[in-house]
Amino acid sequence: MSVTIKTKSELAIMREAGKITCGAIWYAGERLRAGMTTLEVDKLIGAFYAKYGCRSAFKGLYGFPANACISVNEEVIHGIPKQSRRLKEGDIVSIDTGAVYKGFCSDSCWTFPVGKISDDARALLETTEASLFEGIAQAKEGNRVGDISHAVEEYCSSRGYGIVRNYCGHGIGRKVHESPEIFNWGRAGHGPRLSVGMTICIEPMINAKGDDVRTLKDGWTVVTQSGSLSAHFEHCVAITPDGPVILTVQ
Ligand code: MG
Ligand code: MG
Repeated sequence: MSVTIKTKSELAIMREAGKITCGAIWYAGERLRAGMTTLEVDKLIGAFYAKYGCRSAFKGLYGFPANACISVNEEVIHGIPKQSRRLKEGDIVSIDTGAVYKGFCSDSCWTFPVGKISDDARALLETTEASLFEGIAQAKEGNRVGDISHAVEEYCSSRGYGIVRNYCGHGIGRKVHESPEIFNWGRAGHGPRLSVGMTICIEPMINAKGDDVRTLKDGWTVVTQSGSLSAHFEHCVAITPDGPVILTVQ
């Protein structure tokens, strides 16, 4: 993997890919209801992409079988949509997906509540989302990857939350996963330098309790070791002369 630098016209395509991805996530996220299956959620994502003439960048990636990773409650990432998994009131649901549009990829994730959730769950979502924006604020030309990592870690660990250590954000372009790796923990002032034209995915994966995670027997679903809730928020961001520009918004 290498770091790829995008031209202005390539960034414009990635902005479109990001817009579609954001649209798909919110189209599905706003329709979450108790009783719905995670496979039904995945079908909403697929239908949205089809409407915009593109496809999911996730389907088939490393053999993943669906349009989106849908991870519920203690599931951190890589949940496989299933007919047998029904959502219930009080669940939190991460919808992680990306579109391929005109040869370029996007990748974003948002964690949604199903109906009324506990105060603890609400605080976890708010903290994780806020930490994403702490990280994005560091995505500036001349800064280093560690500045992003440290900002996310500091925000979440100072509030008592667990940081998932062994999964990370990444560069993105014609491939979903490019260099550099962007961990949610690390030392400010260290790591690869950020330069104009880089596009990166920043994606805090934060646990209510403890850092540790494990993978279920399905070979995909990553859950918290403690069984506590986990949240995941991700944006794709371009490094520009004017500062960070979020690509995965409407
Ligand atoms: Mg993602
Ligand atoms: Mg990602």
